[in-house]
This record gives sequence, C-alpha cells and structure tokens, in this order.
Amino acid sequence: MTYVERAAKSVVTRYGRDPWAVADAIGLAVYEMPLPGKYRELYIGGKRQGGGRAIVLAPNLTAADARALLAHGLGHHFLHTGNRLHPGARRVGFIRSERQADDFAAYLLVPPLELTRRLSEIDAPDAYELADHFTVPLEVVARRVSLLAGDTGSLTPIT
Ligand SMILES: [Zn+2]
Repeated sequence: MTYVERAAKSVVTRYGRDPWAVADAIGLAVYEMPLPGKYRELYIGGKRQGGGRAIVLAPNLTAADARALLAHGLGHHFLHTGNRLHPGARRVGFIRSERQADDFAAYLLVPPLELTRRLSEIDAPDAYELADHFTVPLEVVARRVSLLAGDTGSLTPIT
C-alpha cells in the first residue's frame, strides 16, 4: 500500500468519504470565489502554519468537479504543505505532488469494494456510468480503476 493510499484510508476511517464532511470535520474552510485564469482550486496554508487554512473553489463547478477538486485540495492538506494553485487543465500532472493529490482524491471518492463489485457484474457499467454513480469526473474513475489494478506509475512514497 502506498503512502497516499494509507493516508486516504486513515481519512476515510476517521471522517468518511464525503469531502465536504471531511473539510468540515477538520475545520478547513471552503470558499467559493473567482480564481485567476484557468485555476479552479486553491489550497491555502500548510499543516505547519496553524490557522487560516482554507480551500477556494471556483464558482459554477458541477457537483462532480467540485467534489473532485475539493478532494484534491484535501490531498494537499493531508499530504503536503504550502500554498498550491490548481489549474483547470492537467498541465501540472507530471508534478509528483499533483499526482499524489489526484490519487488521494480517487482513493477518497471511490470506494474500492463497491467499484470492484460493479466492475465484476455480468453487465458491468461503463466508465461514464461509474462516474455518474460516484458523482466524480470521468478521470477520477479512470484513475481509481488504474490504482485498483496496481498501476501507480512512477509514484514513490514521500519519506
Ligand atoms: Zn493541486
């Protein structure tokens, strides 16, 4: 089990899978306000900085996008420190901390047992149906299926 999966598991055990409930439980404020350019999510503050931690989401996101971006920001909160802007595009996907935050979101938002069960049904749902069912963007389902298959790419634990 990777560092990221372990972190997500411990969050799920303590607070459940709803990113809004997780943010609420840990006292992380979530604001909605316009962000510059393509940015759709901003995580402010790190674990070492004490108060003032918050996540800002761009307005007018779909429910699935808002959940995924909030979960991604929670990933930064639990895994990393410092301020991070998150572009709408995947331009920063190669940066390890961004990939880890995306993995964290996939682990948090998609329960593995239910995913496995649905994938093994005779009339298995396609990725679009799964995304709809779990209220996440398609890329989150794709990432979770890939993680389920043990394809963690070049990810290595932070030590
Ligand atoms: Zn990010």
